[in-house]
Amino acid sequence: MALDPNCLFCKIVSREIPADEVLRDDHVVAFHDRNPQAPTHVLVVPTEHAAHLSDFTRSAGDDRAARLLAAASELGRRFGPDGYRVVINEGNDGGQTVHHLHAHVLAGRRMNWPPG
Ligand code: AMP
Ligand code: ZN
Repeated sequence: MALDPNCLFCKIVSREIPADEVLRDDHVVAFHDRNPQAPTHVLVVPTEHAAHLSDFTRSAGDDRAARLLAAASELGRRFGPDGYRVVINEGNDGGQTVHHLHAHVLAGRRMNWPPG
């Protein structure tokens, strides 16, 4: 399991930085976003460092992206029984600010479309 010592989310995975965790297993850690954009806003991060979604989708049979989505949907059902939104901000135009792949799970209000 490779972690980047300079990465914020790797430090949350290693518990060097505390977070309000809602799920932890061998593959993902999920915790409440510190700047929530919905009544429930959690982040799901892989337990190994990867900057981009494409790092998890290069080879056939790589199920790491599927594991991330499986955790996101489990949390979506837990926090948003009437529905929820899963977002991955990718790269500069996507609005990514932390360069450790993560899925946002937003729930607890009606979401708008198109997103900003
Ligand atoms: P993104 O813009 O997609 O890269 O999302 C990064 C998210 O991480 C933002 O929603 C931030 O509010 C959130 N964030 C940054 N630092 C922390 C932290 N220490 N604990 C929880 N959430 C954080
Ligand atoms: Zn990292």
